[in-house]
Parts: sequence; structure tokens; C-alpha cells
Amino acid sequence: MHLLKEKILKEGKRLEGNILKVDSFLNHQIDVALLNEIGKEFKRRFQDKNITKILTLEVSGIAIAVIAAQYFHVPVVFAKKTESKNLDKEVYEGSVYSFTKAQHYKIRVSKEYLHKGDNILVIDDFLANGQAILGLKEIVDAADANLVGVGIVIEKGFQKGGSLLRAAGINIESLAIIDSLEEDEIVFRSN
Ligand code: 5GP
Repeated sequence: MHLLKEKILKEGKRLEGNILKVDSFLNHQIDVALLNEIGKEFKRRFQDKNITKILTLEVSGIAIAVIAAQYFHVPVVFAKKTESKNLDKEVYEGSVYSFTKAQHYKIRVSKEYLHKGDNILVIDDFLANGQAILGLKEIVDAADANLVGVGIVIEKGFQKGGSLLRAAGINIESLAIIDSLEEDEIVFRSN
């Protein structure tokens, strides 16, 4: 997606530990026009999948999922990272390993909002080691729903998540895949 790649080149900042900071348009300030194009592109790529629900992870996934959902005309469900009194006791849980924090954390979705037979599109901002997506997949599997696709805005192709998930047969569409992230140069895969 040309528009997205241009934006990454113009405004993305490389941080220590191969982290790409895109706070100016995705993770802090949000470029709504760009997100709108991202939403349309996800619709184009997954239009024949009969999606019934979009699932994402709070916080960064929500805005992307919500804009995309307007094109799919389906609800968005976001997995919660914190336990809350308001959250139903009846939840599906997944476990996510964070490499940056070197620890596991739990994510949860109320059983009210995911059902057997739902065709789920999972959306997230980044794909690095694939742990967030695996945690969300656990939840989809626990609900006996179908994970029909995963839409990623930025995949860091030099980390192992993409190959791990594709090898597991998961249908992933990443709008920009970065093959190398150097101080002075970002190289995209031609996709
Ligand atoms: P994974 O679970 O695939 O290892 O990591 C994906 C999650 O970590 C994403 O949901 C995202 O929030 C965060 N993440 C991983 N790499 C980056 C990065 O380079 N930049 C930003 N902003 N977030 C990242």
C-alpha cells in the first residue's frame, strides 16, 4: 500500500531494539484519512471471506478495526488486557508473551460477544514475533469460531511472526512489510 509506505518513510522513527515508532499517524496521533484508506484496503483483501466480526486487541488496534468495520458492516470486539469488575466472569482467555517486557500477560473477551461459527477477521497494528495474534487465535479457537484472516498494518518481516503464523496456515495480509529497519534506511518487501 503505497500511501502507507510513504507515510512510514516520511514519519517513522527507528528506536532501539528494532522498534518502529509511528506515533504521528498510528499509535498516538491518528491520521484518520490514512486509516480510512487502510480500512478500504482490508475490505478489498478480505471481501470474499464472509466476515461476521472483527477482533482486535486494546489499545492500538481499536481505531484501525473500527474504521475497517465500517466497510465490512460488522461489529468490532476488542480483547482486554486488564481484569475488570465490569467484565463478565464468563470470558475466553488467551495468553500473550511480550518480548519487550519478557513476560506473559492475559487477554480476555466476554463469551457474550464471540460465538461458535463466527467468521473472525483479526486486525492489529504491528506483527513482530506473532505473540499477540497467537493470543487472539486462542480466544477465537476457544469460542469455536473461525479465524478466516489476519489484517496487519505493518509487519516487521525480519522478525519471526509472519513466517510462524503463515506456516500454521493462517491467512495474513500485511499492508506494509519491512524487511530491514536500519538507522538511515527502511526497506520494504515488494508485496
Ligand atoms: P508480536 O506479538 O507480534 O511480537 O508484537 C506485536 C505487538 O507488539 C503489536 O500489537 C504492537 O503493539 C507491538 N509492537 C511490536 N513491534 C512494534 C514496533 O516496532 N512498533 C510499535 N509501535 N509497536 C510494536
